[in-house]
Amino acid sequence: MNNNRRVRVRFAPSPTGPLHMGGMRTALYNYFFAKQHGGDFILRIEDTDSNRFVPGAEEYIIRSLAWCGITPDEGIDENGKVVETKSEKHPHAPYRQSQRKPLYRQYAEELVKNGFAYYAFDTPEEIDARRKECEAKGETFVYGHANRLSFRTSLNMDAEECKKRLEEENHWTIRFKNPENRVVKMNDLIRGEIEINTATLDDKVLWKAADQLPTYHLANIVDDHLMEVSHVIRGEEWLPSLPLHYMLYEAFGWQDTQPEFAHLSLLLKPDGKGKLSKRDGDRLGFPVFPLEWVSATGEISRGYREDGYYPEAFVNLIALLGWNPGTEQEIFSLEELVKCFSLDRVVKSGARFNPDNAKWFNQEYLRQKSNKELCEQFLPILSKKGIENPNAEWVEKIISSVRDRAHFVSDFWELTHFFFERPTEYDATSIKKFWKDEILPLVNEISEMIAGIEPFQKENIEEQIHTFITEKGAPMGKIMNALRLAIVGASKGPGVADIIALIGVDEFNVRISNALSTINR
Ligand code: GLU
Repeated sequence: MNNNRRVRVRFAPSPTGPLHMGGMRTALYNYFFAKQHGGDFILRIEDTDSNRFVPGAEEYIIRSLAWCGITPDEGIDENGKVVETKSEKHPHAPYRQSQRKPLYRQYAEELVKNGFAYYAFDTPEEIDARRKECEAKGETFVYGHANRLSFRTSLNMDAEECKKRLEEENHWTIRFKNPENRVVKMNDLIRGEIEINTATLDDKVLWKAADQLPTYHLANIVDDHLMEVSHVIRGEEWLPSLPLHYMLYEAFGWQDTQPEFAHLSLLLKPDGKGKLSKRDGDRLGFPVFPLEWVSATGEISRGYREDGYYPEAFVNLIALLGWNPGTEQEIFSLEELVKCFSLDRVVKSGARFNPDNAKWFNQEYLRQKSNKELCEQFLPILSKKGIENPNAEWVEKIISSVRDRAHFVSDFWELTHFFFERPTEYDATSIKKFWKDEILPLVNEISEMIAGIEPFQKENIEEQIHTFITEKGAPMGKIMNALRLAIVGASKGPGVADIIALIGVDEFNVRISNALSTINR
């Protein structure tokens, strides 16, 4: 690496749908790397394939980055819009490739002129027919050095005809002319040295007259060059394109400023068998997208944000999918990730995603929040349940009694609803087990004693229940379970004394008398 070079990386998504966790990880690793080196993180939208364009995807990608706390240095403005006009801060605008359309053709033509590419005039139908012919023989179709002279190209027609066709036809393309038998030596910052023989490669299309647009390969190389990108960090699905990209840099004579490459391994299904997909998420009940996404047909894909994940937890868990710090540390803030991240600790093999582990991360971040913060986050949920303006201090105490058992703020309702609503039904199994004839007189008696406790506080209640039961020589477990059933309606919740103190003496009395009069054995 040229050490004097400013680190400039880009995240270059194609707006073909919502950003998958894997794409988010690519963005994060680029960001960590750029910030660690005091460099720039550029957002570039690669939208040259109009067939795959999905409305809303670009905004979704930008909102997802923002949710994770990532602001690109170049490419989007303060309002989160892709920059279209050059300025000091955004010198390479526009950052949407479709808006850079006029600039690519000259580069493709330059390659033709210098013998690295050629014009190809076959129609898509003709190529398709050739493909089918091959497949019928059980062969794989490659448009390359072995058969390129059997097509209609500038390589095998005179200049006059070629010129005429270029003017009159509109389906021609410019294809890269792969060397017949050359070993391309490449370097990947994660995988090391890689060698590929060009013999099996096809002559990729670089530019198409039909829509006057470059393909991904040409646009990507030209833009990385013009935008002075120093490092390309992207998914391993692009590794097979690396020889072509190397050869393109060479053909343009841009080797000296060619970026370094790092290809990230796939995110794998929880069982490790194959690439993690949205279907795995649906099947096993976890999101694969940062934010909820509603497709054009109205299909909703769940998002980490809507599932109650904190963005810090999401960033942390994604960062550790395929990278390890080399220590036992698991909890990392964004700032710490920027400090600790390094490409040489990114694994070469796929990273298996474990949904339980994801929940664990959120729990860790929830534990870092104060009761006050958690209360603020819980109040909207309470409001949806019809609990308006509860006393915040009281809610904080309730949260404090259950917070250790929650992974998400949304778990709080299930863990605490009985504080806010009296039981109207009682769990049948608990009734059978705990609501026994021989215990009920004691429940009655202990309840009267509790109702008289002053001050009506947890420690007092706990202590006096204990004294009462010890003095009577009564079965502690059975009485406590019966009391719990009466005030909660089931065998759940934090300590009985906690619940009693928090609901207060009046509510306690109502619940006990309701239970004694309504529970049918
Ligand atoms: N547009 C490509 C994608 O969406 C980017 C590949 C690259 O980073 O070179 O995956």
